[in-house]
Amino acid sequence: MNEEAQVDRIILKPNCEYRFEVQGEDEVLIRLSSGTAELFGVELAKDRDYRFRKCQLAIFTWHGCELVVTGKCAVSYTSDETPMASIVNIHTQLDQIRIKAMNTKTAGPRVLITGPTDSGKSTVTQILLNYALRMGRKPTFVDLDVAHGLLSVPGTITATPLETNCMSVEDDFILTAPIAYYFGHASLKDIPELYKYQVTELAKRVDQRLANDAEVNASGIIVNTSGLIDNEGYQAILHCIQALHIDLVIVLGQDRLYSELNSAVGSTLTVIKLPRSDGVVQRSNQLRHQLRMDGFHTYFYGKKIPNAVPTQSLYEYSPHVVELAFEDINIFRVHDLKVSDVMLPVGQVDDVQRLRVLPVDKGPELAHCIAAVIHQSNVKDDDLGMDPQSLLDASAAGFVQIKAVNVQTNRITLLVPCHATSRMPTGLPNYDLATGICVC
Ligand code: ADP
Repeated sequence: MNEEAQVDRIILKPNCEYRFEVQGEDEVLIRLSSGTAELFGVELAKDRDYRFRKCQLAIFTWHGCELVVTGKCAVSYTSDETPMASIVNIHTQLDQIRIKAMNTKTAGPRVLITGPTDSGKSTVTQILLNYALRMGRKPTFVDLDVAHGLLSVPGTITATPLETNCMSVEDDFILTAPIAYYFGHASLKDIPELYKYQVTELAKRVDQRLANDAEVNASGIIVNTSGLIDNEGYQAILHCIQALHIDLVIVLGQDRLYSELNSAVGSTLTVIKLPRSDGVVQRSNQLRHQLRMDGFHTYFYGKKIPNAVPTQSLYEYSPHVVELAFEDINIFRVHDLKVSDVMLPVGQVDDVQRLRVLPVDKGPELAHCIAAVIHQSNVKDDDLGMDPQSLLDASAAGFVQIKAVNVQTNRITLLVPCHATSRMPTGLPNYDLATGICVC
């Protein structure tokens, strides 16, 4: 931040928010100089500079505050129209259920948030999670948005129990190792059967985790979903509701979806609607693509180091480049075989039979693909050796990028992350035996 950076003082009245957008390489520092304020549910400390890059966010105050903003926002304005009163109302009711669950040693609330893309699902999820964390609860966050997940690389579905120390103003959450299943596509409609299969697997893992910890169980789960709400997307929402034993569905800004879900599941669970905040920013396809690329970059390189000197690394992490012989790595991809392809009568083909894990030919077209690395212990053997179908049930140990494939030398070059803690699963297994599910 240079010394002549623009400085603005923003006075926020009670129940108002300051919305701002930082673009490109710009950086903005925001300090709370008086009063109280929160960013998507996380309280700002007083007199501390928070640093923001490439983001669209809002700082809300219940009682009024003054903010000092240093640097150039592409967009900034204040608004007194926010859905915060409704969100805090939902939170209060969820917390009553948590207290009761804790006293009776039963399961806490299981909430699923749905709505079209850019309706504010991730934001409402974050606020509800952060409010629960502020009460000292340990809610489990399940992120099923393959396009823009908050917990791992794009293309994954993930889950993790959170604790108070996961809260962060500058990051979505501070995490170590969420359970992640690599779906490998930006839209669930690319292979809906696999999406549903992985949601079921993730749900089983979540249930196992909750069964072992009464406090986590009583804190319940909050599920963020993909923005696809028609056809395959709608079927996927119904599947997620059932697989994760949801008891409250929050529909953001879509009367039709609310009405459809209410008719489909309203007799067995509660469906409510919440207005979409005007602050939620509509992102173009180009921006979405860029955000996904940024997500991969952050996984390997971490965040940009502020004021890094030219001799220093610009980013937190320095990934390795590793070269392996073809025989040292197995790469697979999941295919959804149509009913006709599996040569069985209609009605006798279940999802597992349709989903086939097949080896991928190693060739130059794999360059730039991201592959999930699976722990060897998660791969089962059959009579002929390794059973690729067992990869379907395996969560990702971490991710690599295929940089190049040389068919002359039969060698493959990988970019491998190198960091102790991050937003993603780490601790990659033995690379000599690495097994990947690769997706272009
Ligand atoms: P969805 O999950 O439905 O796609 P998001 O919650 O990710 O939508 O919101 C889309 C974008 O709008 C995100 O960049 C988010 O940070 C931003 N956003 C959400 N609420 C606000 C707000 N009140 N003011 C400014 N930006 C916001």
